[in-house]
Amino acid sequence: MTSTAPPPALAHSPAAASPPAVRLRGLTRHHRDVRALDGVDLDFLAGTFTAVMGPSGSGKSTLLQCAAGLDRPTAGRVEVGGTALEGLSERRLTLLRRDRIGFVFQSFNLLPSLTAAQNVALPLRLAGRRPSRTEVREALARVGLAGRERHRPGELSGGQQQRVAIARALITRPAVLFGDEPTGALDSTTSREVLDMLRELVDRDGQTIVMVTHDPVAAARADRVVFLVDGRVTAELRSPTVESVAARMTALETAGTRPTDGCRAPTDPTPAAPVPTRSGSC
Ligand code: ADP
Ligand code: MG
Repeated sequence: MTSTAPPPALAHSPAAASPPAVRLRGLTRHHRDVRALDGVDLDFLAGTFTAVMGPSGSGKSTLLQCAAGLDRPTAGRVEVGGTALEGLSERRLTLLRRDRIGFVFQSFNLLPSLTAAQNVALPLRLAGRRPSRTEVREALARVGLAGRERHRPGELSGGQQQRVAIARALITRPAVLFGDEPTGALDSTTSREVLDMLRELVDRDGQTIVMVTHDPVAAARADRVVFLVDGRVTAELRSPTVESVAARMTALETAGTRPTDGCRAPTDPTPAAPVPTRSGSC
């Protein structure tokens, strides 16, 4: 009897059919003689959550900054939502960053004199738009902060402040949200709250997230973990668990690539990136 089932390759594979949210090919970034990135090929599929791990100095922040158009690679290619960044003028790159890319850092970088709602509305105001109250309220509700519109950063906990920063990064409905150690400054309970929320953004809204972390507990919330060493992807884990991530990190450390660098949560010496500018990197 002949089967009426669709061919396996076509059955139920929307991610395979659509282009990745971010595509990196041969991504290379040198700082004089330092190879911060050394030919990275990666796809971040739409609606997936990827964690990037590796020892300090392995190129994690550089990877995110290049992928987000905050830093120009020495060689290689970055595509965001199907648009190649390399040929873009400064102006077009700025617009693409503003409209298609969200970025959060370890430090929340909220403006202390503005309310949560005003902080969230800022990217739209900078784009010359007057955001509706509903739009801002919904953005805060998406990160579990309904009713906190009028609070100033000083009146919110660290986890709540980071959630405001995430709402601000998501207000333009970007193709991808990058986070450089977004839970690095939080205690384990608030860190888990933020991770729960990131996971929900992926599962509920189909948000694409790429997050650098040193913490196996954080990485285990992702769909995939990519390991960098000396600017190269050395391993990948799908459906990670805390144990499998920790074991892989231990293996990387004992391989002795950078024995003194360490990658042990939660005491990463990497300073917080202060501002989302091209030159800002941690
Ligand atoms: P990670 O985030 O994994 O700690 P980074 O991406 O910050 O690593 O850095 C990768 C390498 O590139 C490190 O050796 C770092 O010292 C170097 N590097 C990063 N930014 C610069 C810069 N602006 N100038 C010189 N070297 C840099
Ligand atoms: Mg870093």
